[in-house]
Amino acid sequence: MTSGTDADPRTEANSAPHTATNTDTDDEMNTAMDTALFTAWIEETARTVTAQKERLTALDAAIGDADHGANLDRGLTAVTKALDAGEPATPGSLLVLVGNTLIRKVGGASGPLYGTAFREAGKALGDTPEVSVAQLHAALEAGLAGVRNLGSAAEGDKTMVDALAPAVRALEQAVRDGKDPAEAIDAAASAARTGAEATIPMQARKGRASYLGPRSVGHEDPGAASTALIISALHTVTAR
Ligand code: ADP
Ligand code: MG
Repeated sequence: MTSGTDADPRTEANSAPHTATNTDTDDEMNTAMDTALFTAWIEETARTVTAQKERLTALDAAIGDADHGANLDRGLTAVTKALDAGEPATPGSLLVLVGNTLIRKVGGASGPLYGTAFREAGKALGDTPEVSVAQLHAALEAGLAGVRNLGSAAEGDKTMVDALAPAVRALEQAVRDGKDPAEAIDAAASAARTGAEATIPMQARKGRASYLGPRSVGHEDPGAASTALIISALHTVTAR
């Protein structure tokens, strides 16, 4: 997005008092959003997509061409393989690697769209070693802007944008409320899930499902469903 990536590490230091004791019941409080956490996120995403491949494909069978689960699973399997070869140095370079791999490996609409989203998010993070809630928000906002530029879908068109945009707004609100990473990501995951479910009554105006016109009504959009899975996977690893 705009320049001046707001990567001042002091923002984080100021808002996170370092009380390492007494964390037995509240270990979510001190989640460090570092490269290890982002790697765990992507690995959890790959696991979840493999586990839910049939569900995503069934959603795409209803209003598309029944390949969304297989598309994403293929892409994320390639991503996992690339990560096995060595963990990138920063969260930003990790997300750029994910994006580039998805663009290379996933055909269909979702490959370039998700690929662009991850790439733009990674670029927005720059070379920061640890990501604040504000930086995560900026990254997802950049990812959303990439999806919108490429696919020109607005909210209400029954696409992944309907899950991603509410998640970005939830993070924006979390920044304003001074939430810690685990709380912020919890809110983003809920917003994405609610956004995905809200696609059920929509009529598709973008992508393959739009060819069905009114017959696209009554089904959850597969890309919105997978976006909710991806953000839920981040919640899963931050809540560990
Ligand atoms: P394809 O439609 O080419 O078979 P996939 O099945 O992998 O690709 O992905 C379909 C998903 O891609 C849709 O459910 C929708 O969320 C998303 N999508 C399609 N077109 C667009 C678009 N123009 N903008 C945003 N998302 C889109
Ligand atoms: Mg498809």
